[in-house]
Amino acid sequence: MTNPSTIMFPVRSAASANPRPADPLISLVVPCYNEEASIGLFMGEANRVLAGHRVEFVFVNDGSRDNTLVVLMTLAENDTRVRIVNFTRNFGKEAALTAGLDHTRGDVVIPMDADLQDPFETVLLFLDKWREGYDVVNGFRKDRATDTLAKRLTAKWFYSVFNTIADNPIPENVGDFRLLDARVVATLRALPER
Ligand code: UDP
Ligand code: MG
Repeated sequence: MTNPSTIMFPVRSAASANPRPADPLISLVVPCYNEEASIGLFMGEANRVLAGHRVEFVFVNDGSRDNTLVVLMTLAENDTRVRIVNFTRNFGKEAALTAGLDHTRGDVVIPMDADLQDPFETVLLFLDKWREGYDVVNGFRKDRATDTLAKRLTAKWFYSVFNTIADNPIPENVGDFRLLDARVVATLRALPER
């Protein structure tokens, strides 16, 4: 279920003057499209790995056609750490993540897929790096062996094109699995681009 080949790696490492709270609130932002079967497993992993940490969950239901919204609402009724952003139709993962970010209150924000493809333990490694002073910690795929050839080639093409035109290149095989300090999230929220 988890991918042991995913490890964390810090980039753009400005040692931060930002003081770190001893017991930070961790915001997990989880875009969900037809994830009714994943959410319970996701919460199980979160509660297991992050026991003793302060966590809030911002689930974004991206116009699911299954019972994702009902599952989330039931969860939220019984767990005050859970909040829901609901889209009435499917806008795609990027829009869901952006909306979710706008609703976080944490000291650190970590977008995560609902399907547990990123190992939860990595969150603890992200936190260690954040405590060292990094405001952004990117996860990257150590190998893409589990991807199809087509996906690997598409990814390679994406990074080469993006990094040719972008002022701030992103390292290859970095996805959305990362830690963002609240200050970074505030900056992202202020950007006009969507
Ligand atoms: N997702 C979403 N809207 C979409 C497609 C996906 O919110 O239109 C969510 C999905 O539920 C999951 C995450 O985005 O939590 C990643 O989706 P998926 O695993 O399908 O993408 P991949 O891992 O292949 O990039
Ligand atoms: Mg996935």
